[in-house]
Amino acid sequence: MGTILQSIPKEAEVTKIEYEGPRIAIYTKNPRYLMDHNDVISNMVNVIKKRIVVRTEDSIRKPEEEARQILTQMLPKEAELASTFFDTAIGEVTIELKRPWLCHNNQAFNLPELVEKTGWRARIRKVCKNQSQTLQTINYNLKISSSERAKHLRQCGEQIFRPKLSEDAEVSLLTLGGFSQVGRSCMLLTTHESKILIDCGINPGARSPIEAYPRLDWTNITLDELDAVVISHAHLDHAGFLPVLFKYGYKGPVYCSEPTLPMMNLIQLDAIKVAAAQGKVPLYSERDVKQVMKQTITLPYGTVTDISPDIKLVLSNAGHILGSATCHFHVGNGDHNFVYTGDLKYGKTMLLESASWQFPRVETLLIESTYGAKEDIQPSREEVEATFTKSVNETLRNGGKVLIPIPAVGRAQELMMVIDQYMKSGQLVESPVFMEGMIQEATSIHEAYPEYLSRELRQKILETEDNPFDSEYFTNIEHADAREEPLREGSCIIIATSGMLEGGPVLEYFKNIAPIQKNKILFVSYQVNGTLGRRVLDGARQVSIVGKEGKIEVININCSTEKLDGFSGHSDYNQLMSFVYKLRPKLKRVIVNHGERRKSENLSSSIHRMFRIPTVCPQVEEAIRLL
Ligand SMILES: [Zn+2]
Repeated sequence: MGTILQSIPKEAEVTKIEYEGPRIAIYTKNPRYLMDHNDVISNMVNVIKKRIVVRTEDSIRKPEEEARQILTQMLPKEAELASTFFDTAIGEVTIELKRPWLCHNNQAFNLPELVEKTGWRARIRKVCKNQSQTLQTINYNLKISSSERAKHLRQCGEQIFRPKLSEDAEVSLLTLGGFSQVGRSCMLLTTHESKILIDCGINPGARSPIEAYPRLDWTNITLDELDAVVISHAHLDHAGFLPVLFKYGYKGPVYCSEPTLPMMNLIQLDAIKVAAAQGKVPLYSERDVKQVMKQTITLPYGTVTDISPDIKLVLSNAGHILGSATCHFHVGNGDHNFVYTGDLKYGKTMLLESASWQFPRVETLLIESTYGAKEDIQPSREEVEATFTKSVNETLRNGGKVLIPIPAVGRAQELMMVIDQYMKSGQLVESPVFMEGMIQEATSIHEAYPEYLSRELRQKILETEDNPFDSEYFTNIEHADAREEPLREGSCIIIATSGMLEGGPVLEYFKNIAPIQKNKILFVSYQVNGTLGRRVLDGARQVSIVGKEGKIEVININCSTEKLDGFSGHSDYNQLMSFVYKLRPKLKRVIVNHGERRKSENLSSSIHRMFRIPTVCPQVEEAIRLL
């Protein structure tokens, strides 16, 4: 810290230097100086190899109301200021504008001047038409806990930058869930210095607790021993158990990408509601989810971040859902590089870019194998879109309804874009599209992070007023009373959560739609073994579901059912193999997870045969020495 202070010119008026989680925060009374001389900071980063952020000193920050008035005067009128959020813990204001593009490349508007005049660092974002409730809740919780958070960040920093105990490198991976199975993804990465928990999910199809949750009990460590938890993406099978760690007093940080925080909070809070509706005791409470918000440190893609004395983390786009990340762990001084793909889509979709594969080095790759069997070849996007329109048109023309059970996050937004595009072009019969259950909310979060979306979509949202998520075909059903309209006589498309028919509003539609022959249930996402969705897909003609107040209802399935694979957010067998083929330099070892046993084994042996790389296909409760 002393060296940093000495190398900064007096004019910068630096008052203090503090840890802020994985970064070092430099507080200044003259932010303008460091903005105008940004080489001062970049030179320092090169020397100390740590992330540095410049913060404004408390005393120069104008009170919020005054700062807002200054902003209103300085921002271009036509950009339309919609809202502001002042984060007091870090002295940063988020400015939401209707037309943010009017600020970029605008001579009249000067960001450093704005910072100088208000004393607040500024971040400009585009406002969403439907403001995300989740983001508002997060902002509110961040605000009321700002001193608690500032303290937490300081403590995290002290832990991360503590002196190393030994120079010996030794790296192991303990499998706690999601190996030779899909669901409850979880593992522990250990070195002499650190213990990092990676993902912490539940298995939605499991019936017994021993199968449903990660085997943290098997590791024999306490939560206090964990340096960090890293979450690859928001799905329940990767982050659904995380709030339970907080329930039992986890004090450390959680790292994930920026959109993953609101996405996982949304899903975690929904899981509480779903459990209550099924008459089950929820695993955790809303309070635990709020604690997740407070202790999470979000990272943009591509930023090297110290998360413990000997581990650096870089998140990159995994192409699976908004914010999904491959996690690159760099151990020691280049002693070992471990890449965990998380759920991976190596192929472009309408919503997202294809997964990144340019890692500076990888010795061990841990890859998912949802579609790891040889026969798991998905049709091309053109083919699947053609099959989709044909199948949906058939039912609509017969006066039937198409029910698409869908996870709120990812597939829903992808499908919205496909439906909008094909209806506009006339290839899909124009009909009302009803959506229910978190889809609208998840869509708002997508709109809040356009920089994480595919290039074309980002451009449409950021630089034009033509936003495909706002299409006139879609009607959001907000209350159960409004279901009358979609269930009335006549053809329509209904998209509802959850994706595997395990709870959620989709069940209400399912009860009405399944018994009628001219209707169709169309699955577009993976159906985990043991879920109702899987049983329906496997041809069950009668199922019983637990309704309100624990009453069992028997449903006859007379409608047709169909599954379309090409919309998946997972790579197919060929894409998984191409991804491995792309990686350079040559891998030393590949570990396979996240697949039914037979699929994981097949991918493991295929990689071994094709690329002559040692592969492992472990089960849960195994320890693998990486170095
Ligand atoms: Zn996933």
